[in-house]
Amino acid sequence: MQEYDIVIGLEVHSELKTNAKVFCSCKNQFGQAPNTNCCPVCVGLPGALPVLNQKAVQLVIKAGLTMGCEINDIAVFERKNYFYPDLAKAYQISQLVRPICLGGEIKLKTRTVRLNRIHLEEDAGKLVHSTAAIGTLIDYNRGGVPLMELVTEPDIRSADEAVEFLTKLRQRLIFAGVAECKMEQGGMRCDVNISVKKKGAKEFGERTEMKNLNSFKSVYRAINYEANRQIEVIENGGKIVQETRKWDDNHGKSISMRKKETSSDYRYFPDPDMLAVEISREDVENLKKELPPMPEELKAKYMEEYGLSEYESDILTKEKELSDYFNKTLEKANNPKEVSNWILTEILSKMKDGSEEIKISPNDLAKIIKLVEKKTVTRTNAKEMLTRVWENGEDIDTLVKEYGGGVDETELKKIVENLIKNNPKAVEDYKTSPTPEKVFRWFIGQVMKETRGKANATKAEEFVKEGLK
Ligand code: ADP
Ligand code: MG
Ligand code: ZN
Repeated sequence: MQEYDIVIGLEVHSELKTNAKVFCSCKNQFGQAPNTNCCPVCVGLPGALPVLNQKAVQLVIKAGLTMGCEINDIAVFERKNYFYPDLAKAYQISQLVRPICLGGEIKLKTRTVRLNRIHLEEDAGKLVHSTAAIGTLIDYNRGGVPLMELVTEPDIRSADEAVEFLTKLRQRLIFAGVAECKMEQGGMRCDVNISVKKKGAKEFGERTEMKNLNSFKSVYRAINYEANRQIEVIENGGKIVQETRKWDDNHGKSISMRKKETSSDYRYFPDPDMLAVEISREDVENLKKELPPMPEELKAKYMEEYGLSEYESDILTKEKELSDYFNKTLEKANNPKEVSNWILTEILSKMKDGSEEIKISPNDLAKIIKLVEKKTVTRTNAKEMLTRVWENGEDIDTLVKEYGGGVDETELKKIVENLIKNNPKAVEDYKTSPTPEKVFRWFIGQVMKETRGKANATKAEEFVKEGLK
């Protein structure tokens, strides 16, 4: 492996987050009963006419803006002709000559990957290979779902970089509200183009393409397998032929499918049913204003404005759900360090134990944090409260009465007075000790012990201080 460079270019398809499909008003929704979410347009009946969903175009523009793409002022749609049973029209409406976005880049840790383009097209239906005697079934629900295809330049040099690229891309699309990228639903799929060359050689080798990988793990494995296969072929005096290969994830190998098709095989031509789309600079500016901050901007803000560590900021900005949660909690409890601590320790450990969602609202977490700050409840009790909200959906205000306001003031005062009366030696210690704070803490500890932690800590401190005067 040492003497070879690996060269990789990716083509990534992501389903866009629109309500309707791209050329008709059918719902863009996963998981419906087969063939219940179709109309003459999306199953391609002759004579049916496509009407472009503006939202889909806007989302592709937004995607491009997050990656520094140039937005074309006129975008054109072509027909890409091929026959496959999941594509009833026998052509896909796609873009070749004037895609919506050109250029752009994503920065990796060690390298910048240039983008070639991002264009808008329609998804195909889904073949369901049934093991029963009925054979293969076709579900057209996915047909006409808006897809953005992003094509990179061949700038990626390893499986690790490919995964880093995809992770960053996915993060951006989710943060920007462009796509949900649910891998397990096929919401993000990737074609891997790969070639090898002698280390340092200028000219690229012949490439192969593996289509439709739908997890980062299979991308990673496929790249390493295919690079090794190509090197072996070359080392044995063979030649790599341009071809499309299928990645078989179960057996961990790639299998030749067909000679690679080139764009001329598809007989692209402008779709006469589609008008060219004019994209005004004003529209682009307005879409730019709608974009929320990207993960790295948020990370910088957390570090510089909130004084969080890089480690904390990284975790809090990895998933949009978590950074939204952090931001919302912060609106109610303005203490970034505390909020971050609670999320990184309590919330994340609860999620590690198998919960997919955060089962306490930002509002409630903020309440708990403030209760600790005001010492109405102890930290230990606050954690217990959190667990009870998480597990049983209990009401915070009721819990506060139990944990924080569990002992009324007169009763608390009496408890403190008794403690002071019954511990003259400790009182003496407090007055003479070089570390009176320790003795003071001991008294507070006794109060908490006697009230089983239910005393309001601020009040307890106030009364103890009073009593020790
Ligand atoms: P096509 O239209 O035939 O798919 P493109 O030129 O658009 O070809 O390239 C498709 C993808 O293949 C791009 O992501 C590109 O970066 C990548 N690519 C091109 N040449 C090579 C190569 N020699 N090795 C690896 N990847 C390559
Ligand atoms: Mg291609
Ligand atoms: Zn339809």
